Formats: sequence, C-alpha cells, structure tokens
Amino acid sequence: MTPSRRSFLRLSALALPLTSVQKLFAKSVVRKPIVISTWDSGQISNAAAWPVLEKGGRALDAVEQAAIAMENEVNCCVGLGGNPDRDGFVTLDACIMDEKANCGSVAFLERIKHPISVARKLMETTPHVFLAGVGAQQFAVANGFKLEPAKLSPDAEKSYKEWLKKAEYKPVINIEHQQSKGQKGHGPFAPARLEDGSFNHDTMGTLALDNNGDLSGMCTTSGMGFKMRGRVGDSPIIGAGLFVDNEIGAATSSGQGEEVIRVCGTHLVVEFMRSGLSPEEACKKAIERIVKPNPERAKTFQVGFLAINKQGEVGAYSVQKGFNYTVTEKGGKGVVINAKSYFS
Ligand code: ASP
Repeated sequence: MTPSRRSFLRLSALALPLTSVQKLFAKSVVRKPIVISTWDSGQISNAAAWPVLEKGGRALDAVEQAAIAMENEVNCCVGLGGNPDRDGFVTLDACIMDEKANCGSVAFLERIKHPISVARKLMETTPHVFLAGVGAQQFAVANGFKLEPAKLSPDAEKSYKEWLKKAEYKPVINIEHQQSKGQKGHGPFAPARLEDGSFNHDTMGTLALDNNGDLSGMCTTSGMGFKMRGRVGDSPIIGAGLFVDNEIGAATSSGQGEEVIRVCGTHLVVEFMRSGLSPEEACKKAIERIVKPNPERAKTFQVGFLAINKQGEVGAYSVQKGFNYTVTEKGGKGVVINAKSYFS
C-alpha cells in the first residue's frame, strides 16, 4: 500500500530525530582506555602505560609508568642519560596532573632517576605544586629517592666533549633534520643522537584516558641539550608543557620550551577544545598563535602539541614537519602517526 501523504510526513518526522540521535550516539561512544605519547619513542612509554589501563587502572598510574619507562632509558632524551647543560650537569624537569586538577612539578632537579615520581610525591603529600633545584633534590632524598652519582652516561659524555670543542651556545631546538636523511622521528627507532651529539628533542609527554573516563598526563625531560645552567623550559610548567582538564581534555608539548611558555601552550590547546575544536584543530590554532607574532623566527624552531579530548579523540600539530606521536588502545599495539605542520 502506498503510504498516504500524512503517514509519509509522520514517518519522515520520525526519521529525522532518529538520525540526530544516531549522530549523538556516535559522538558519545568514548574511545577508552587509550594512551598517547609524543614521538615514535612513545611506543616505549605507551607499552609501560598500557598494562595499567588494560586492567582498568587509573590514568594517573599509567602516565607515571610511561614516564618511568622513558627515564630508565640509558641513551634517551629524558632522564639521567640525557645531554647535560653547558656546565656538564644533567638537570631534569617533570610534571604530572590528574583528573582532579591535582598537579606536581619539579625543575632543575639533579641526580634523581625518576623526577616524575618526585613530582607525584610532591602533589600527593604536600600543599605545593612546584619545587626546584636543591630544594627539590632535598625533598626527593627525604622521601627515599636515591641520590645517583653525578656522572654522565657514556654517550652523553661523548656528546658533551664534542660540544665543548666549539662550546657554541645555540639555545635552539633542532628541527627533525634526520628526516632529510630518510629517517623518521627520534628515540630508539632512529639514531638517538645527531652528529653534533644533540638529540632532536628531549621531551616525552603522555596523556591517558582510563576505563573510568578520567584523564591524566605527564611530561618529563632533560631539557634542551647544553642549555644555560639553571634554564628551565616548558616541560615542568603546568599550562605550558602539560595541562589536564577532566571535563574537556588534555594536552602536552615537545620542542622549544620558550615558545610554548610564551603562549601558555597546553592550556591554550585545552581552551580551544573547550570552545568546540577537535584535538587536531586545537593544536593547530595554538601553533598558529606561536607562529603569528614572528613567522620568520618560527622558521628556526620546532614545537609540537599533542591532545586528547574526553571522547578519546586525539590529534597533534607542529610548527615544522617531523613531529609524530604514538597511540595505544585496544590490542595494546602502539601506532605511530605523523602530525601535520604549519611549514611543509
Ligand atoms: N621542551 C623541552 C624544553 O624546552 C625540550 C624538548 O622538547 O626538546 O626544555
């Protein structure tokens, strides 16, 4: 029977709300648990975070495990194996943030293997957020963290000696020039150090959304290689190297810390997500904010942002080509994704 015009109208009226309900439903399917980390070396950090998430554990515990795994790497860009400052000392920066806006940071911390755990201890046992230098070290030791010998890893020592030949102070993060040699990224999947002894980048950031739907993040680094003594970048600064808002999403950064600090980078990314942008769009807008005041200067450095929202959608964007990130979810296999960039 051919439907009457009236019943046809009734049916189509029914069909309309169904479509929008379906759309809503599709949007409300949360991709969780999921963990994302900066760079292809994020495969190491995600592999350490995943067992926590898989068992239904807290995002906070997952991101701490991610940081510990990277800080354990002897010849890596973070932790005590990293490059020293220009006076020959390795100084570490790290921060962590949970779903309740609890956060802890340490900066200019020497001879402690796991700055991330010191940051977490600070967050959980004191009313403070940020400790630096000798005070941070004292706090760590008082809380049972071992004071490691003040010595460089063999590779870092070699790099430092090489750097000392010219001792040229060049506080600019290297752009991924490995790319031009047909190699990708940094970390264990590409030579950890460049010919001049420096790393491409020196920061690992991890963001996780757990089964409960809660977000946490971490950022850990030995900072810019051969930096001025006492120099601290974006990585331990809440709102610059890391920001988590459990209502909206989370973001982390890697690259030239000074540029990220100037725009309160990761806070900006989260605020862009709050205004309705996807994680990738939000990262792109924040990168544009960095580039806009001085596009010529922006040609000389790299910054990459990585973000996740409450739905578990992820995205990244960078100033230069070469920034990538690792996503791990169901199945536990880390997938490396290349970010789009402002300059191609
Ligand atoms: N963001 C870090 C810093 O400025 C370095 C890096 O990511 O390579 O210290």
